[in-house]
Amino acid sequence: MISINRLFQSIAIVSILLTYGVFGWYYLEQRDQTARLILESIKDNVSEVSYVVSRNLNAQQPVDASRAILDRAVSNSGFIEAIALFDGATSLLTTDPFHSFAPSQLFSFSNEVDEGFVLLEDEGHARGLVRYYMGAQLKQLTLVFFIDHAEIQNYLDITQGGSIWVLGAFPAMLIAALALFVRAWLVIPLQSLRQFAYYHDKVPDRFRVRELESIRYTLNDTFKRLEHEQRTLYDRARLDSLSGLANRHSLQEYVNSLISESSRRSQEFAFLFMDFDNFKAINDSMGHEIGDEVIHEASLLIGTEVRMYDFVARVGGDEFVIVIKSYQSKEELCQIVQRIQSVLSDTPFAGAHKLHIGSSVGIAIYPEDGTDFLSLMKNSDIAMFEAKSQRNSSYHFFSHALNERVQKNISLDKAMRRALLHEEFELYYQPKISLLDGSIEGAEALLRWRRSDGVIIAPGEFIPLAEENGFIVELGDWVINEAVRQLAEWRLRGINLKLSINIATKQLLETEFESKLLAALDEQGISPTQLDLEITEYLFIAQTKHNSRLIERLQQHGFTLSLDDFGTGYSSLSYLKRFNVDQIKIDKVFIDDFQSHSGAIFIDTIVKLGQALHIKIIAEGVETQAQADYLRSVGCHAVQGYLFSKPLPLQSFEDYLVKNHKATLI
Ligand code: C2E
Ligand code: CA
Ligand code: CA
Repeated sequence: MISINRLFQSIAIVSILLTYGVFGWYYLEQRDQTARLILESIKDNVSEVSYVVSRNLNAQQPVDASRAILDRAVSNSGFIEAIALFDGATSLLTTDPFHSFAPSQLFSFSNEVDEGFVLLEDEGHARGLVRYYMGAQLKQLTLVFFIDHAEIQNYLDITQGGSIWVLGAFPAMLIAALALFVRAWLVIPLQSLRQFAYYHDKVPDRFRVRELESIRYTLNDTFKRLEHEQRTLYDRARLDSLSGLANRHSLQEYVNSLISESSRRSQEFAFLFMDFDNFKAINDSMGHEIGDEVIHEASLLIGTEVRMYDFVARVGGDEFVIVIKSYQSKEELCQIVQRIQSVLSDTPFAGAHKLHIGSSVGIAIYPEDGTDFLSLMKNSDIAMFEAKSQRNSSYHFFSHALNERVQKNISLDKAMRRALLHEEFELYYQPKISLLDGSIEGAEALLRWRRSDGVIIAPGEFIPLAEENGFIVELGDWVINEAVRQLAEWRLRGINLKLSINIATKQLLETEFESKLLAALDEQGISPTQLDLEITEYLFIAQTKHNSRLIERLQQHGFTLSLDDFGTGYSSLSYLKRFNVDQIKIDKVFIDDFQSHSGAIFIDTIVKLGQALHIKIIAEGVETQAQADYLRSVGCHAVQGYLFSKPLPLQSFEDYLVKNHKATLI
């Protein structure tokens, strides 16, 4: 690529070379022309003088008589130095005694004087012939015209000096003027235009060349547009489009710089992780548009509610981070958090929908709870989950004990998943004994984790986490398949037993639960009537149509449903009317309490209720004969407990069955 300056320099050099080329050629042509004219005049002189001298000699005049002619010819022509008349080598007459010898180089003119400058440079002299008659005899003398070469050169120099001036200097001046013009009007403006394009903050003065001015105008316009686009891109990269708040990226930048500032000044700051309570329900029931509206309005509110020097970012769907830089005490910090939470929950959002937003906040403090962005983010998130597990619209500080618990859960989760792959789970079986005749009327399958080191882990240690993080769905599938497989194996050996399996609420609400369950039974050719599903009352809390239909359908297939842990949860009797279960399992805590007045009343009431609603009552955790006796006396149908058997591994359970000979055929 060539620069403007270079381009114009090259153009100037080329035009100078061209001009001087043309000029040189013209100069040589001109010089030849002049030389030809000089030779022409010498030729005229030669022929005229030769003629006059011949005529004089023919008229019998003495040679001397021609002297005057020769002198006049010499003095008339500046280019002839002398003329001499020779007869062979003998000088007869000369206008200058120094030229009385014939020179060696002589030339005579032909008709054309083409030789021009060549002849003149030749150092030669012109020759004219004088012919006359002496009597009848023709005589021939030679006239030598000594040419003044120096004078001719001089003349040529003078005339050509003029042309050099006219032809040489003028174009040079013209080119120089042109160059100056081009420089002033084009090169310099173009250069400043280039600078403008380069730095673009230094706007050049207006140009006099219209095209340049329009280029500058367009450039200016383009720059403005680019700047705008840059700004939008920058904003887009840093701002969250829905809320207009900072996004995660700029939060990270801000926190990083705040960390270096705070560590220099040994200051702390609070990193708040906020999540709206039950926001998913808003999205699911009212649609994403309303959800977005709420996020937008709530973001604006949070933005105005925090102080100017606090920083708010939206980091996820309904997740926000608020960084609070200055507070006098933790109490003041709590007040700030409470104020934001109560403003959020007091303000109605989404216009006519008048939605109120509860929020849970987790608080991590720099530097004690984290010294970098990611650990602050993680720990405040952990604290937020803790807040969420307590009640709506609460906040919780991060603590190392909390962190330990979470870390333990993380590794437990990994170990659980690995255990499933490595087939470390197995089912134990606990018999259910009829209080009418002491027969084994079924068994409950209870999950155990037999670790590779042989240690057996009870479900209480991992089921709650599996229920919390959803792993229970996979694990529950395994339990179903294993239980059904075992039923099929027993059937081959003539053992027909009703088996109860525990089904977690999450598992039951999973869309494919029913089809997977039926497929597992179908594959092994087992009837649903052989399975009892133990569910907890949590399913009934949300009294949706979907849930009651599911219960109905499962019963239509032939499954029986047992309400597990009865009395420990919400224990609203209303759902017993709505959801028609087959059995109620009274929780161990009430059985333990049977001897107290209230405990006895509770058991009695439940049994009576069961009788009225035709629901079978089973008691769990029966450990003593007294308990069993009491339960039989009030009319409880069946019991389960250590009094009869602990949950047993397969082999021991089969031994138990054989020993008690009471595996009943259904
Ligand atoms: P659950 O369904 O209420 O099961 C009864 C629990 O009481 C069992 O504990 C059982 O071993 C224990 N138990 C039975 N009789 C007695 C007794 O006389 N005295 C005492 N102290 N305890 C007795 P386990 O096997 O540790 O299971 C605990 C819980 O884990 C179960 O409570 C159930 O909620 C859950 N679970 C077990 N297996 C599964 C499963 O396959 N799926 C699901 N979702 N949960 C399961
Ligand atoms: Ca159970
Ligand atoms: Ca139970």
